Amino acid sequence: MPQPKTDPHDIYRIMELFSDEERLIHDSVLDWVKERFLPLIEEHYEAGTFPLELLPELAELGVFGPTLPEKYGCAEASYTAYGLINQALEYGDSGLRSFVSVQSGLVMYPIYAFGSEAQKDRWLPQLASGKAIGCFGLTEPNHGSNPGGMETIATPVEGGYRLNGAKAWITNGCLADVAVIWAKVGDGDSKSIRGFLVEKGTAGFSTAEYKKKLSLRASVTSELFLKDVFVPEENMLPNVQGLKGPLSCLNQARYGIAWGAMGSAMFTFETALRYGLEREQFGRPIAGFQLQQLKLSEMATDIVKGRLVAWRLGQLRNAGEATPVQVSLAKRDNVNTALRIARTARTIMGGMGIMLESHVMRHANNLESVYTYEGTHDIHHLILGEALTGLAAYEG
Ligand SMILES: Cc1cc2nc3c(=O)[nH]c(=O)nc-3n(C[C@H](O)[C@H](O)[C@H](O)COP(=O)(O)OP(=O)(O)OC[C@H]3O[C@@H](n4cnc5c(N)ncnc54)[C@H](O)[C@@H]3O)c2cc1C
Repeated sequence: MPQPKTDPHDIYRIMELFSDEERLIHDSVLDWVKERFLPLIEEHYEAGTFPLELLPELAELGVFGPTLPEKYGCAEASYTAYGLINQALEYGDSGLRSFVSVQSGLVMYPIYAFGSEAQKDRWLPQLASGKAIGCFGLTEPNHGSNPGGMETIATPVEGGYRLNGAKAWITNGCLADVAVIWAKVGDGDSKSIRGFLVEKGTAGFSTAEYKKKLSLRASVTSELFLKDVFVPEENMLPNVQGLKGPLSCLNQARYGIAWGAMGSAMFTFETALRYGLEREQFGRPIAGFQLQQLKLSEMATDIVKGRLVAWRLGQLRNAGEATPVQVSLAKRDNVNTALRIARTARTIMGGMGIMLESHVMRHANNLESVYTYEGTHDIHHLILGEALTGLAAYEG
């Protein structure tokens, strides 16, 4: 088989930009993904299940809430390390990264940033150790891109609140022990939005799984129903009010996606390159044809650019200076790049590319969801557009 003359995995020696500790964290997660996760993914993807049996190992790797303090059982690692964890996980599957993103960025982060001491002490160690699973309920059947229009209502009653409404497309919804539910208090506007910790088994709280997904099949997605659900006062997140609560959580998760998408792109690129070197047509490896080299060259270049954007974003995030617009740019463009690369990898692999065992179409299908969730590709263009022009195009 012909041999590459440069390291196709890291042409720009980007790994040298990270500390020894960050590289160690990355390598341990990536090794685990290759050894423990990839052998199971086909079976779970076909069955439409998440490999819950791997939860203790994931917790042992320290991937849940890795930037949070050690006193809660977390690693207190840098945001760059958090990014590299996401990159390594999504090398395996976007559903695996989604599970960890939700647990870390959308559940542990709001409890840590906006919760009471009692809420932190109770939930963070359980979530860090994988003994509890969390989900994040913002999207509703009638309100996706404009969550400020949400109809879920929390009515103040003696000792707490009574919640009524429904949430749509909730990752880990059926699995979760605790749901972070965003609701408007009374019949107020978006300024009245509050976060509530709703526990599994609470009377009036039920879930239903979406069963026929063609994307993110190894991730559980559910509807949540709240019918006169009583939530005690102490289960409300006390330290945030308004849309900035959920939006700051999304900013955390979008940051991880910007890195994760590059992990997926690296996997599909490497798979297509290997196939192109092995597969012969017209008496020579297909990677030797100019058209296929154009594809491989563009894929490799786009990966370098996307990884450098993620690295720079990590630096800014470590310094507490990354803006939502910077995060939005990186999420949108890196996911779009990864989707293009996965589809191109599929073409290089010809008919084999459509098979589950070749893995590239699984990644492409997954990325269709990643393109849409955590702010659609279009909405992220409009966020940058507003920043560039001062004109908000997404509002009516
Ligand atoms: C697999 C999966 C998992 C998810 N997990 C979660 C979760 O854990 N928690 C959660 O709360 N949500 C979750 N979501 C929901 C996700 O965030 C929403 O799907 C997303 O915000 C888009 O909302 P929507 O699907 O209602 O699309 P819509 O908002 O109806 O948008 C449909 C189309 O219209 C476009 N559009 C909308 N408004 C505008 C505008 N102003 N200008 C131009 N174009 C516009 C969009 O870009 C899109 O192309 C998940 C979704 C999926 C698919």
